[in-house]
Amino acid sequence: MSTGYYAFHQHFGHDTGKDHPETADRITVLEETLKQTGIWNQLAIHEGKTAHLPDILRAHSKAYVDQLHLIEPEHGCIMVDEDTPMTKGSLEAALYSVGTTTQALDDVLNEVHRNAFAAIRPPGHHAERSKSMGFCFFNNSAIAALRAADVHHLQRIAVLDFDAHQGNGTIDILQNDKRFLMLSAFQHPFYPYTHYEQSKYTNLVNVHLDKGADGEAFKKGVLEQWEPALRGFAPELVIVSAGFDAHKEDPMAELNFEDTDYLWISEWIQSYCKRRNTPCLAVLEGGYDLNAFGRSAALYIAGMLEPVEASGQSEQAAV
Ligand SMILES: [Zn+2]
Repeated sequence: MSTGYYAFHQHFGHDTGKDHPETADRITVLEETLKQTGIWNQLAIHEGKTAHLPDILRAHSKAYVDQLHLIEPEHGCIMVDEDTPMTKGSLEAALYSVGTTTQALDDVLNEVHRNAFAAIRPPGHHAERSKSMGFCFFNNSAIAALRAADVHHLQRIAVLDFDAHQGNGTIDILQNDKRFLMLSAFQHPFYPYTHYEQSKYTNLVNVHLDKGADGEAFKKGVLEQWEPALRGFAPELVIVSAGFDAHKEDPMAELNFEDTDYLWISEWIQSYCKRRNTPCLAVLEGGYDLNAFGRSAALYIAGMLEPVEASGQSEQAAV
């Protein structure tokens, strides 16, 4: 089965301004890189959809959702929190982020594709139940996890997050719910400076990465901490919060991942999923150095392709 790629043009309406790191150029550069490396032609391309409100309300309070609609500006830009700008098109883009993610989720669970990548923005993993944060309005991964449980009736869903920043929103929403296992690797101590310590929660595995840590430290954490937890949980679905800001060229964190570390984690996840015939959905989070992000995310997507294709394309993509 093929790999689905889901994106939507409405994200251009979420205009964060030229000085903000989370820009529409990220998706443009990713898609240019996918085309230059020949990966694009191996993907099943889908145009995304807007959200269904019930999906959002599984993860977020109605008061919070209503508030976002109330404060959306007719003109100019407001700050929803200290990091998250909102313009006239931001809410529509955030709704499309959710809808595109759930569309990709439904397709992998209905076996339209073996796996899927949702190239969405704004991202989601910092958005808590009633709070925007860190460029995020709605928590796309948590919304997908809750839809998989409530609508598709799955009982065990793993959410893997390798963004450089802890996905505080995902933990806030899915904490202590035995249907979900959250495996996270992030720079510590670092933004968002929340206190989601592993010992306080029943369904959380944190891999702490010291400032300056490289891909080897990440791999060690994945193999020693994620792998046994994942094996013990035996998920029916894997959702990946795929952030690429741990790259050594990224200005938003202080980790030293290389391009090929993202190919490694993708192939590790796909290998796990393929052995157990487990569907997998990857949802875009961070990644802000445009060149490093484009290369890393393209390699990650190359790793999602069937193995024969992936090895050939990886060589091409790494040029
Ligand atoms: Zn991040």
